Amino acid sequence: MPKELVVCHLYGNLLNTYGDNGNLLMLKYLAEKMNVTFHSEIVSIHEPFDPNKYDLVFVGGGQDFEQLIISEDIQSKKESLTEYIENDGVMLAICGGFQLLGHYYMGAKGEKIHGIGALDHYTLSQDNNRYIGDIVIHNEEFNETYYGFENHNGRTFLGKGERPLGNVVKGKGNNSEDGSEGVIYKNVFGSYFHGPILARNENLGIRLIKTALEKKYNEPFVVPQEILTVN
Ligand code: GLN
Repeated sequence: MPKELVVCHLYGNLLNTYGDNGNLLMLKYLAEKMNVTFHSEIVSIHEPFDPNKYDLVFVGGGQDFEQLIISEDIQSKKESLTEYIENDGVMLAICGGFQLLGHYYMGAKGEKIHGIGALDHYTLSQDNNRYIGDIVIHNEEFNETYYGFENHNGRTFLGKGERPLGNVVKGKGNNSEDGSEGVIYKNVFGSYFHGPILARNENLGIRLIKTALEKKYNEPFVVPQEILTVN
């Protein structure tokens, strides 16, 4: 029996800046290369999130307008999403989605957009400026370099139990101050990378799928060596 990966595309119809939905296509492409059957479904506003149903959750980025709408709805999913995360559920959260997992994001017009505080970061705004451009980061733990494109107003500061996805080699990252980019908390991976992130960083996608399958089937998953990219 082939292994099966069930993915939740959280707010997939609302959060999709700069082609973030491409991450879902990449997960499908990589899963198939790993001989894994892939299923995905969108869970959006007014729909409950079942913390026991999914092996992987993907949430993309958004403009402040969409984020404000979601900020209200996501409070009703706060408990179930926190349960999923605390139970080592695997998640990829990009930009606006990454911000909403933290305590709050001060929007570009000074509005406070509440997150769910499942992760301990918070995000401030900056006046008349955005961090836009190519970005390169390095993750020492995995010895992997990730390449992407960032475009955000928010300046995120990590908190308790959070470590960066990587250290900035080129670009601005979370806040342009502390050299961090993105987050890893338990099995949650967050980043400001668009592009979409998994299209240029297959190894990260493979890591997400491997982690999700090992958790689900409670046995090691051996990734076929020939599909790993050297960078
Ligand atoms: N609106 C947020 C910001 O500008 C997130 C942007 C995004 O998801 N691309 O920081």
